[in-house]
Amino acid sequence: MTARLLDGNQIRDAIFAELKNEIAILDSAGIKPGLAAVLAGNNPASHLYVKSKIAACEQLGMASALITPSAETSTLDMLRVVEDLNRDNAIDGILVQLPLPPQVDTKRVLEAVDPAKDVDGFHPVNLGRLVSGRPGLVACTPAGCMEILRRNGIGVEGAHAVVLGRSDIVGKPMALLLMHANATVTICHSKTRDLPDVLRRADIIVAAIGKPGFVAADWIRPGAAVIDVGTNKVTDPREAERLFRNFPARLEKFRAKGSILVGDVHPDAVKVAGALTPVPGGVGPMTITMLMSNTVKAARLRRGGGKPLASQSTATAH
Ligand code: NAP
Repeated sequence: MTARLLDGNQIRDAIFAELKNEIAILDSAGIKPGLAAVLAGNNPASHLYVKSKIAACEQLGMASALITPSAETSTLDMLRVVEDLNRDNAIDGILVQLPLPPQVDTKRVLEAVDPAKDVDGFHPVNLGRLVSGRPGLVACTPAGCMEILRRNGIGVEGAHAVVLGRSDIVGKPMALLLMHANATVTICHSKTRDLPDVLRRADIIVAAIGKPGFVAADWIRPGAAVIDVGTNKVTDPREAERLFRNFPARLEKFRAKGSILVGDVHPDAVKVAGALTPVPGGVGPMTITMLMSNTVKAARLRRGGGKPLASQSTATAH
């Protein structure tokens, strides 16, 4: 068996086309959705992420603002920045790019964001809404995973879904979304016993642990759907050999570049799973896509106008 590849880029394009329509409707009501990114310090990866988020806003015709406190910023300075953005009616979404400099109290800053503008879905108010199945803004990566399942017609209701990883930003919200979609959900973590056996009973696996190729192909039930959230950069040639032994073209690419991206699931899973998100090009593109979707949703909810997108209703509903 060779798994059907679940292409995140294709879904991003479809959702972007839908968002453009909704942005046009908002525009006719005089509303231009706006996202503000707060980027403190000089972390190169953070700069790249924020750049691509702003580029996505431009591509969709949304307004964007970039606020760049220095690496020496304080918690109080950051709180002031967030308060200004909370008050600015032209800003619908506030994105505080993590990690913040070590002297800044990250939790305090995230909790200062107006929940109505919390397009990352990290605020306790939005987490609480998710727990109780009420409408709110949902963390982008798990919301994107749900879109991948839904738009590929992978049945969640009644399925046994195993979520590997229990972080606040991926594993926990993912498990809640699957439960609200009527899956029977098992959450696994570093203390789970007999992990391979638990995974072998899954119809759907969502792997989010940050360990390259950790989920072996023979831990996957033949035909299961596998959503691989992991994004790990491998630079060790022996590790690359272990992972890509059966994929000479990818090994060749590794040798040419000196690094390669791999998920938390071993690439050999493609021979066992029924459906699989590739890395790169699976879950990755969905995170920014859902950030854009959340910003448009926040604009609609805060300022009125337009109907919700299909992608904006699955994230909350039972
Ligand atoms: P995280 O906060 O580090 O959480 C990792 C989770 O994995 C923890 O719950 C941990 O268990 C569990 N874990 C670690 N080792 C394990 C093991 N050997 N067996 C079972 N469980 C284990 O990670 P995260 O932020 O959720 O991210 C997970 C992965 O997703 C990373 O590769 C990250 O880069 C990727 N990611 C990708 C995107 C995207 O857009 N594609 C977005 C976000 C994250 P404990 O709780 O017991 O410690």
